[in-house]
Amino acid sequence: MKLKIWTTLFSLTLAQFAWGQTSGNSKLVNTEGTAPEASATSYTVLGATSEQEALVRAQIRIMQPDVYPLRVLFVPHWKYVDTARTFRLHVPAGYTSAMFTHLPSRSVFIDSDRYVSDDSLGYWVAHELGHLAANSASENAADKAAREYRKRLKDAREPDVH
Ligand SMILES: [Zn+2]
Repeated sequence: MKLKIWTTLFSLTLAQFAWGQTSGNSKLVNTEGTAPEASATSYTVLGATSEQEALVRAQIRIMQPDVYPLRVLFVPHWKYVDTARTFRLHVPAGYTSAMFTHLPSRSVFIDSDRYVSDDSLGYWVAHELGHLAANSASENAADKAAREYRKRLKDAREPDVH
């Protein structure tokens, strides 16, 4: 599977980070370098159904990433596209991504309308967590880190296989 088709990572300066209509902005700006480390439970999941939130939290708990996101945002497709446009995301014509990660704020955005299955969600989230672990926009670095996370997911699904 070509992850690049599904996942786009972009980097921006914090000044350009203009997510949302709420008071969250100041928080986002302050997170870099100064915030206490996010842990297995301290990150925020926004916009998800209770099932989606339970699932993504369970998957992240299983993956035990080296770096946790500070927030995971499920957004409807129109909002996802709108956010990508706001961030001046460059998505090659002909396809759209299902997730992207904003590294400076450790925010993972998920297009909830492209939610396909529980397994694919975990597979893609692993890639985004790989970006965070590597602190890199490199797809190779993200996939390398994601490998171990995907293995943990797989082992959790198949407890008899060792
Ligand atoms: Zn990526």
